[in-house]
Amino acid sequence: MRIVVLAGGVGGSRFLLGLRHAVPQAEITVVGNTADDITLFGLRICPDLDTIMYTLGGGIDEQQGWGRAGETFTLREEFAAYGVEPQWFSLGDRDLATHVVRTQMLGAGFPLSQVTEALCARWQPGVRLLPMTDDRVETHIVIASDGDQRRALHFQEWWVRLHAEPEALDIVPVGADEAKPGAGVLEAIDAADLVLLPPSNPVVSIGTILAVPGIREALVETMAPVVGLSPIIGGAPVRGMADKTLAAIGVPATADEVALYYGADLLDGWLVDTRDAASVPTVEAAGIRCREIPLLMTSVSSTAEMALAALGLAAEVER
Ligand code: GDP
Ligand code: CA
Repeated sequence: MRIVVLAGGVGGSRFLLGLRHAVPQAEITVVGNTADDITLFGLRICPDLDTIMYTLGGGIDEQQGWGRAGETFTLREEFAAYGVEPQWFSLGDRDLATHVVRTQMLGAGFPLSQVTEALCARWQPGVRLLPMTDDRVETHIVIASDGDQRRALHFQEWWVRLHAEPEALDIVPVGADEAKPGAGVLEAIDAADLVLLPPSNPVVSIGTILAVPGIREALVETMAPVVGLSPIIGGAPVRGMADKTLAAIGVPATADEVALYYGADLLDGWLVDTRDAASVPTVEAAGIRCREIPLLMTSVSSTAEMALAALGLAAEVER
């Protein structure tokens, strides 16, 4: 079975651990969000790709859900001693090695897809990890500035430095219009038996992947069932600040509204948490098959149950 999964960072990675456990023989291709990417200290950083690679490769800081296990911060202290910015973005020594290797390869002319493949040769994540695009796309957040002025800042600055405090008036994946799907992405979707949307951020993870021209279209056209799992439970994100990103694009943070935002043309099936049973009729009325099951990824085995439920729903809706 060939499964394509669109994924952000922490939510996507946790789900992938469960999926790999549930169907160890499946050929899993992950289309990873790269709109969180940023260049700091001259280094190209791809937080979501790295979270997936470290999580599935056994190198993640499990407590945090991101960054390397056994991390040290000597370089950060050295940067701070020079007074150089930014000091708000946590970069550990082990993690920095990844960014140095990536930046060196990009500088030598390799596309991000090949760089990612090279990094994965070390981590052996057990899935094929494809960047959503080889082009540069960076999410920017529009916030109010003095008076009725507005200004845009990089997603990471808003999310990490400002803790998503200033209200997001708009969210723009800068560069997406001009981006092409990453190497192998459309081919993987075309060959898939099943496409899954894990509980990742619908706006700044899955939304930005879908903003790359050609990817959404390929998902609408594929014969494979497309099944998603809600990242919103009981009207709130399970962790993180996804509600703030949904508010910015005018989508209420509920399990049914996220499904409607993805659209019935894209989604064939949608799983909501048992607490959101009341959402099921709304989603079904829109023409999307919907079921309620526990959606908390508290362990690999509970997450594997979620993955199996998604596979079951896919079998039900198969055209
Ligand atoms: P990020 O890139 O690190 O922000 O990670 P993702 O975009 O992949 O996932 C973030 C989303 O995962 C958030 O909207 C959370 O609500 C959702 N999430 C995290 N843990 C869980 C969980 O246990 N169950 C569900 N249903 N959603 C979760
Ligand atoms: Ca992310």
